Amino acid sequence: MKVNQAEIVISAVSQSQYPSENLPEVALAGRSNVGKSSFINKMIQRKALARTSSKPGKTQTLNFYRINEQLMFTDVPGYGYAKVSKTEREKWGRMMEEYFQTRKELKLTVLLVDMRHPPTEDDIIMYDFLKHYEIPVMIVATKLDKVKKAQRQKHLKIIREALDIEEGDELVAFSAETAEGKDQAWKVLKSVM
Ligand code: GDP
Repeated sequence: MKVNQAEIVISAVSQSQYPSENLPEVALAGRSNVGKSSFINKMIQRKALARTSSKPGKTQTLNFYRINEQLMFTDVPGYGYAKVSKTEREKWGRMMEEYFQTRKELKLTVLLVDMRHPPTEDDIIMYDFLKHYEIPVMIVATKLDKVKKAQRQKHLKIIREALDIEEGDELVAFSAETAEGKDQAWKVLKSVM
């Protein structure tokens, strides 16, 4: 997929601010530092469109990016930061629920997990949450380049089993360093466009 155009449409905190352009939409979720910004930037071949954001203290927003007038990416704030206050976490939860419950344009969620480690409790909760809303999910196992070739299948099996990935949901190993997995991930994205 050749991306000619990628631009931020809006940083939203509630439904009234979501874009109303009716493009097929893909949300991107994962714990902080999993490699979500790197994934987005590699997929759309930009150096820093998706900022390495969602650090504690920063405003937690849903960032909508329009891609080629064809697709919307929604970057949802990362989770799993121990330092985030209870109030912040609750606000985050309400924002996520509102989005995933109501967003008709949403076709697929990309859930990013770190390929080096078994999924965290938060990753499992996130996957179950998405399945509760019957949202198709592509699991992207990030930092593939950091896992030895001989270990890769084993790591993918651990992820598949820990999340109990449903039939029909794809699991793609990805590296933002080498671009391995990029074509496979685009293939899945294209299937919802
Ligand atoms: P985010 O918080 O989920 O947006 O994570 P970032 O995209 O900012 O990545 C967190 C860190 O992991 C950064 O230091 C990245 O350079 C690194 N990183 C992300 N993806 C990869 C990858 O595929 N391979 C390697 N080796 N490092 C990665």
